[in-house]
Amino acid sequence: MIRDLFINSTILTTFIFIAGNVFRNEPLNKTSPMGKRLLAGLGASILGIILMFFGISITDHSILDLRHFAVLLLMFYAGVKPTLFCIVVLSLFRVLFFGVNTSSIIAIIILILVFLGTYFILKLKISNWFKWMLINLYSLIVLSIAVIFVMDSFKDSLRVLPTYWIISISTCLVIYYLIKYIEGVNEAFRKLKKQATIDSLTGVNNVRTFDKNFNAFVERVINHDEKLSLLLIDIDHFKVVNDTYGHPAGDEVLKQLASTIKHSTRAFDVVSRVGGEEFSVLLPDCMHKRAMEVGERIRVAVERKMFVLPDGTEINITVSIGVSTLSKECIEKKDNFINEADQGLYLAKKTGRNKVCSVIEQKCTNNVCDCMIKEDLIKKAASR
Ligand code: GH3
Ligand code: MG
Ligand code: MG
Repeated sequence: MIRDLFINSTILTTFIFIAGNVFRNEPLNKTSPMGKRLLAGLGASILGIILMFFGISITDHSILDLRHFAVLLLMFYAGVKPTLFCIVVLSLFRVLFFGVNTSSIIAIIILILVFLGTYFILKLKISNWFKWMLINLYSLIVLSIAVIFVMDSFKDSLRVLPTYWIISISTCLVIYYLIKYIEGVNEAFRKLKKQATIDSLTGVNNVRTFDKNFNAFVERVINHDEKLSLLLIDIDHFKVVNDTYGHPAGDEVLKQLASTIKHSTRAFDVVSRVGGEEFSVLLPDCMHKRAMEVGERIRVAVERKMFVLPDGTEINITVSIGVSTLSKECIEKKDNFINEADQGLYLAKKTGRNKVCSVIEQKCTNNVCDCMIKEDLIKKAASR
């Protein structure tokens, strides 16, 4: 008996590890999308069924196992609907597989009682630790009464109940600490992942994410014959902002600029901070003319925006923007792609700032594009 219940306990912990992995990027809770919660309900149902198979037969039709933990965990993490779904699946399985008999009906009643008890205990204003312990104690009492009932003798039930209590209580403690551990590890993982991909000051992507997206988008240019455009955006005379209003004020301007750029671009465009006061926007599936328009839209939005500093002062800033575009026809020049946007930016700075410039001219006829580098413009930019 100890062996079977121990196997039940290890199956449970294995499932918890798997669930911890599945929900590593976004934790499961009662506000998660219904699809995700029902997926958890399905997982818990499978867990319950497996636990049933590895349970111990205490009478001809009655099995004792730890399947109630599947219901408890679901109530804790996924809420009422997925738990009801799980109870329906487990009940149907119990009836279809083991037949309609008193034990099946009692098994279904136990699941419903465990659900109801958990529902009310979760509403109590006590810590999660006490809720978990109380829920387990309550479930054990319900299950023990059911065991005494189906075995028809209190004396006989004493052969199984002490072991069952010991294994259940140890499992309940192991699960609690295991979940706490997995939650801690997952949270640290999410934090590190965010730190590795997002610029902490402005909340837009960092250089590493820019590189990753850049490579993926170049693949799309090659494989799907898409045009990829790039905007490099640099604040004009930003040093003056820092010198006049202080570094924290400069930081605030950077944050608001990042948000202005994000609002001026499409949801799938990739906005990144690629230098101190330099941002980039990767525009997938965007031809050169359109990219120039997007650049102009950003330039105007920045020019019109009042940037509010921490002390309430409102200031205006402007940006210069360099644009370049990559298409399949010019893919051999892909290493120059960023450089060309940079040269466009130099040109904008050189010729007065607060401008959108490009050193390339793309002529497209029947969707076939020719990339012409305007050497005179490059020279002009280089003379900076
Ligand atoms: P230009 O129009 O030629 O771009 O002039 P600029 O003053 O913007 O350019 P410059 O490269 O001379 O100065 C960039 C400034 O950006 C200097 C630096 O102190 C500031 N900067 C870089 N990173 C940060 C940051 O994270 N926060 C703040 N507040 N300032 C920063
Ligand atoms: Mg700069
Ligand atoms: Mg600058």
